[in-house]
Amino acid sequence: MVLKKFFSPDDFIEDYDFIDVEYMNMYNKKVIISDLDNTLISWDSKKDTKQLTRWLTKMKKAGFEIIVVSNNTEERVREFCDSLNLQYVAEAKKPLTTGFRKALNKLNKKPEEAIILGDQVLTDILGAKNLGAMSVLVKPISKTDAFKTRINRFFEGHIITILKNRKQFPKMKFRRKKLERN
Ligand SMILES: [Mg+2]
Repeated sequence: MVLKKFFSPDDFIEDYDFIDVEYMNMYNKKVIISDLDNTLISWDSKKDTKQLTRWLTKMKKAGFEIIVVSNNTEERVREFCDSLNLQYVAEAKKPLTTGFRKALNKLNKKPEEAIILGDQVLTDILGAKNLGAMSVLVKPISKTDAFKTRINRFFEGHIITILKNRKQFPKMKFRRKKLERN
């Protein structure tokens, strides 16, 4: 079915740090191409979090590469990524694949080696499908969205409902280490 082909993610996780060394190895992936707003950080916040830094350090140390591909402005994305020493592509125009391709070129990697991570079906997941890369949807960090995103969410909600009714949408996986952290 068309909807499943373009909008159903390969996996659905509660939090970006569900992706760990084991996860990357299980799917034989080398790169995480991640969305920024509401995926790694709340869309209305510029603040870095300790949890994110810890995760990035751990993944980089294990030899994985992480690059941010965001539709947000150069200014916003640069400020955030520079502070975390992350490579990025801003104004990416997802679901077009241009930004993802730029990111892969920077790292000299192929789509098959990448996981594309994001919180929006209509941009991140559709873009990953267009590229032919593994797509992982993450639950949005913030319950609110920027105005433009709210319009997308309206359509996304309908698509997800249809896919869920057809049992073609993955169930959300919860963080395994939740208990340890508290
Ligand atoms: Mg986002």
